[in-house]
Amino acid sequence: MATIELSNIAHCYPGCGDSYALKPLSVSWEDGKRYAILGPSGCGKTTMLNIMSGLITPSQGRVLFDGLDVTEQATSQRNIAQVFQFPVIYGTMTVGDNLAFPLKCRNVSPERIKTKVGEVSELLGLERLLEKTANKLTADQKQLISLGRGLVRDDVAAILMDEPLTVIDPDLKWRLRRKLKQVNEEYKLTLIYVTHDQNEAMTFADEVAVMNEGNLVQKDEAVELFENPTDEFVSYFIGTPPMNLIDCEAVDEFSVRMGSVNIAVKCSLNVHDRALRLGIRPEFVQIGVSINQENAVNVSVKRIEDLGNFKIVTCNCYGTDLRIKMPRNTNVEMNDLVVRFPIDKVRIFSSGILLDSSS
Ligand code: ATP
Repeated sequence: MATIELSNIAHCYPGCGDSYALKPLSVSWEDGKRYAILGPSGCGKTTMLNIMSGLITPSQGRVLFDGLDVTEQATSQRNIAQVFQFPVIYGTMTVGDNLAFPLKCRNVSPERIKTKVGEVSELLGLERLLEKTANKLTADQKQLISLGRGLVRDDVAAILMDEPLTVIDPDLKWRLRRKLKQVNEEYKLTLIYVTHDQNEAMTFADEVAVMNEGNLVQKDEAVELFENPTDEFVSYFIGTPPMNLIDCEAVDEFSVRMGSVNIAVKCSLNVHDRALRLGIRPEFVQIGVSINQENAVNVSVKRIEDLGNFKIVTCNCYGTDLRIKMPRNTNVEMNDLVVRFPIDKVRIFSSGILLDSSS
């Protein structure tokens, strides 16, 4: 397995002038970890993945596998297994032959092939299907074969997956995702997984790399993306509903003014900084509090939506919609309401960038 490093990588497709699909970035993918690359359509996820696999040679920068420069190497020389959105299998071959194929191409001995195919088919739950013709299988089974074709090889440095669950029935997605986790744990493989589905990314990966407009914005554990988004893009891209963002200005080093109230914060402020925004997750706004408590604010309820297992209450907070996520059985009326922003959960963004609240 391998640590994959992209050093000062950028990419501009031929004929695209100065328009960079991937803007300069450096990032390291550690050996044996599970990663997701997450972002809206066109943000550069596939471009980044294809640079790692060798399908694209970057316009600038180096690709290193365990410190070795592989930038000019073809995909076949990189020991990468790829799983695409649509399974790449030989439909007329049996499942067993599909799994054996990459090893036969490398002149692996028949005994070793038998062992590996047995081992991988058992891991993926395909052992009873080995004699079946591949095109008779369901979409998730076909995708498992694609994955299995990567896993049979002993020399695979990493498995790179581009939206592998898109064609899978929603019921079967969780099964395949669990399988991928199991594969990662047993084989200690580096798995890098492209998706635009935040739930998929957050439940699958040790770390999620969030991209926007060709930039790698933040690469972190799910909890950090949720609690400490480094910029406003991540704050609203992650979370449903997204983080509330409310205009405010610094009053002193540790408080901001929002409308007519002062809110205590943990980050150190520059009192001349007028372009601030206060961020608070809908999950962290407290209700049933007294106006005398720290960071209590008067708001008025505009809308109550019952989403089955929880409620979203939208309030007017000094001209901005403040959304609060609460248990479904919480009693809220279309009236004025006192809410509280716990100081530990308040985040401040200056010109879109998070100020450090950790100290
Ligand atoms: P999606 O989620 O829609 O697959 P993505 O995040 O994977 O998108 P990329 O496919 O990497 O994004 O594309 C990044 C940018 O590069 C987009 O603006 C896209 O239009 C452009 N692009 C991708 N492939 C090419 C190409 N072969 N030639 C020119 N431009 C391209």
